[in-house]
Amino acid sequence: MKFYSTNNKSARVDLKEAVTQGLAPDNGLYMPESIPVLPQEFFDTIHTKSFQEIAFTVTNALLGKDVPAEELKRIVEHTIQFEAPVVEVDDHAYALELFHGPTLAFKDFGARFMSQLLGYFAKQQNQEIVILVATSGDTGSAVANGFLGVKGTRVVVLYPSGKVSDIQEKQFTTLGQNVTALEVTGTFDDCQRLVKQAFLDNDLRKKYFLTSANSINIARLIPQSFYYFYAYAQVKDKNKPVVFSIPSGNFGNLTGGLLAQRMGLPVHKFIATTNANDVVPEYLKTSVFHARPSKQTISNAMDVGNPSNFVRMLDLFNQDFSKLSADIAGYAFSDDETRAAMRHVYASNEYILDPHGAVGYLGLIKYLEESGEDVSGIFLETAHPAKFKEVVEETLSKSIDIPQPLQKFMQQPKKSIGIASDFEGFKAYLLNNL
Ligand SMILES: *Cc1c(COP(=O)(O)O)cnc(C)c1O
Repeated sequence: MKFYSTNNKSARVDLKEAVTQGLAPDNGLYMPESIPVLPQEFFDTIHTKSFQEIAFTVTNALLGKDVPAEELKRIVEHTIQFEAPVVEVDDHAYALELFHGPTLAFKDFGARFMSQLLGYFAKQQNQEIVILVATSGDTGSAVANGFLGVKGTRVVVLYPSGKVSDIQEKQFTTLGQNVTALEVTGTFDDCQRLVKQAFLDNDLRKKYFLTSANSINIARLIPQSFYYFYAYAQVKDKNKPVVFSIPSGNFGNLTGGLLAQRMGLPVHKFIATTNANDVVPEYLKTSVFHARPSKQTISNAMDVGNPSNFVRMLDLFNQDFSKLSADIAGYAFSDDETRAAMRHVYASNEYILDPHGAVGYLGLIKYLEESGEDVSGIFLETAHPAKFKEVVEETLSKSIDIPQPLQKFMQQPKKSIGIASDFEGFKAYLLNNL
């Protein structure tokens, strides 16, 4: 499989380059040059297959010419070490629970798959691969845990001191081994600037094989299609069309769904649901895309004012607004509406939504009301409620338990290295300490 940049379809690169570069040199995002359609027989028998089997079939169709089958199998089996159950929440809504991985959020899928694929490329060269990642919280934990112990890779996580929650910080500062946490005296933007500058620095590039692990990487997108297939396999009523509501920020999760649909998955409609950061729902209403600075909300992993994967969505529909808006509906909800949904779902069904899943739930219910369709409605529950303990407890007036994997992190001592936000200090650290 070759990959093109969304800014230039004629320049093609191979899988290794797309994955290790992340972003194309022209700042476009990589897309597969063709998307294989899976045979009907696969869909007819999908409910008899395991999550790992489904994921392998999808990966093999996309990357089977680039990575040997037994290696792909190992990568998939390592990625899918936990379930993604479809759970009935009420008569109208099913939750696809994507929070059963080690850091309790859907980003585990992308991070684990990408780490294994990079580990495979590392084995083929003499040089270690160094992954630099700037995080405001969740990406750092998913990436650090995904790469932990993967031979031939080393992860450096940069995070703003005092600006991530305790639970988040513990998830990437307690690991050790091939994971180093740099606690930057500065903001998240400072962390991102340091990482960007490192990629442009000749001394660092001479010494290390540097790569980033940000959310636009094609190796994070591909595994985000797996669970749409698996959710479809779990739907009980096979005669009803399936719709997915995706609580979205950078729209990587939704783009994973579009990829699944292009591979033949019969999805009737995608519902792009956001918090107050509503540039995509607005685009779907007006056909005008207008990026804005992000606003802070209680579903903060979706506080994105200029969603990076929007260009991929456009690309998949050949920039055709009418086609795109026929397949994707869009709604935005306030924090008050989000809290009301959390209370309502808990009161009526004792199901605890996290703020992100609650936004997804709201989008699904609104779509069902407006369309009046008789469909199987699934919303993506992207994080465990304990990851947003304060908001959930305050909203439901109820204390919630921290699940075992999170408790384990909380008990470990934090190990981080403090650095200032200037590039020279960061560079010296990397040159002398890795
Ligand atoms: C990252 C994240 C999202 C948003 O996903 P995108 O792919 O950026 O749209 C939603 N919920 C949670 C919990 C997240 O961590």
